[in-house]
Amino acid sequence: MGRSEELFERACRVVPGGVNSPVRAFGAVGGIPRFVREASGASFTDVDGATFVDYVQSWGASLFGHARAEIVEAATAAARRGSSYGAPTEAEVLLAERITGAMPAVEMVRLVSSGTEAAMSAVRLARAATGRDLLLKFEGCYHGHSDALLARGAGSGVATFGIPGSPGVTEGAARDTLTAPYNDLDAVRAILDERGEEVAAVVVEPVAANMGVVPPAPGFLEGLRELCARHGALLAFDEVITGFRVARGGAQALSGVRPDLTVLGKVIGGGYPLAAFGGRRDLMEQLAPSGPVYQAGTLSGNPVAAAAGLAALDLVDRLDPYPGLEATAQVLAGGISAALASNGVPHAVHRFASLFSVFFTPGGEPVRDFEGARAADHAGYARLFHHLLDRGVYLPPSGYEAWFLSSAHGASEMERTLEAVASFRG
Ligand SMILES: *Cc1c(COP(=O)(O)O)cnc(C)c1O
Repeated sequence: MGRSEELFERACRVVPGGVNSPVRAFGAVGGIPRFVREASGASFTDVDGATFVDYVQSWGASLFGHARAEIVEAATAAARRGSSYGAPTEAEVLLAERITGAMPAVEMVRLVSSGTEAAMSAVRLARAATGRDLLLKFEGCYHGHSDALLARGAGSGVATFGIPGSPGVTEGAARDTLTAPYNDLDAVRAILDERGEEVAAVVVEPVAANMGVVPPAPGFLEGLRELCARHGALLAFDEVITGFRVARGGAQALSGVRPDLTVLGKVIGGGYPLAAFGGRRDLMEQLAPSGPVYQAGTLSGNPVAAAAGLAALDLVDRLDPYPGLEATAQVLAGGISAALASNGVPHAVHRFASLFSVFFTPGGEPVRDFEGARAADHAGYARLFHHLLDRGVYLPPSGYEAWFLSSAHGASEMERTLEAVASFRG
């Protein structure tokens, strides 16, 4: 028995399902999850000593790969000065300035510790600011696991385990969340025509990346902007994945669509627990202590996480990693698609900047929404996952997840990946 297997057995006795976040458990692909011993750059080594090219990268948090020297140094230096004070620090100001400087729609920002917390707080603010209760979200988009946002069709984690919403979410919470299919403006228009005056916010991943990668159809985000304006609802972009990943200014910079509220996480923490929500000044000023909307956190803006996040955003400014990521992603996605095609495996490779995913759809039909993602062959994805795992390449353990590139993925990682895919016959 390997060490991962032994640890997983022990974990299952003391931790529900053996993991602290469901998708880590390999439930969708079968087998024993690999326990990580250490990681560096594009790869990690498991507790049995096997090394894998890693396309999870902490679900996209590690834009510069694992244990990037500048980030490690910043975090350890900060830890030596004390791990948390419960009083403000300079790093929080610098990080807030960096975020607002990169995203013009984010005029003010508040730091929190997880994307879930950020999205949940943005929802509270939207409801308070509009005096309305309802939310509109999209099937297959994930915004963390707060009740309001888990209500229905909440993307990868939930989809992987086939749970419709979740037990424990009250009917009241579920009733206050309306859902529409992603990329379906007509559905949004119909819902808002009927109940638009009750909707506080339309919440959307501007590039859906929790049902595999599903880019917005041309005009979709622009249409949401216009419909929100017409009905007095706020538009909230969840850029927890896309912020500082698809571009320095996120998907809002690429689309030119200006949301009222923005939710950030993952990349801005440099791999540490840090997230943020921000937006229009008149909205953000309604938060306590400048306004009445309560929101707080013992570890919010934690100095170690803030130092790591700042170091990551310093690297963004200094290295401009996006052209390199784009080039790597293009070659890799193209190479994977070519290898599958030459083996006669029908598929659709979806890519948006350094995010991509592979759907095994009939005839290689592209996916536009959650229904399409669900119709893909997930048993086929599980076979691809294990085929690559056996060859030292670690994909997200679910066909509903995005594959994440880091700037540390280079020629040798690409070669290893494409070689592994070349022998996959479906
Ligand atoms: C990961 C994710 C979240 C939740 O962030 P956590 O830090 O895991 O709570 C929210 N929204 C999107 C789009 C995400 O991908």
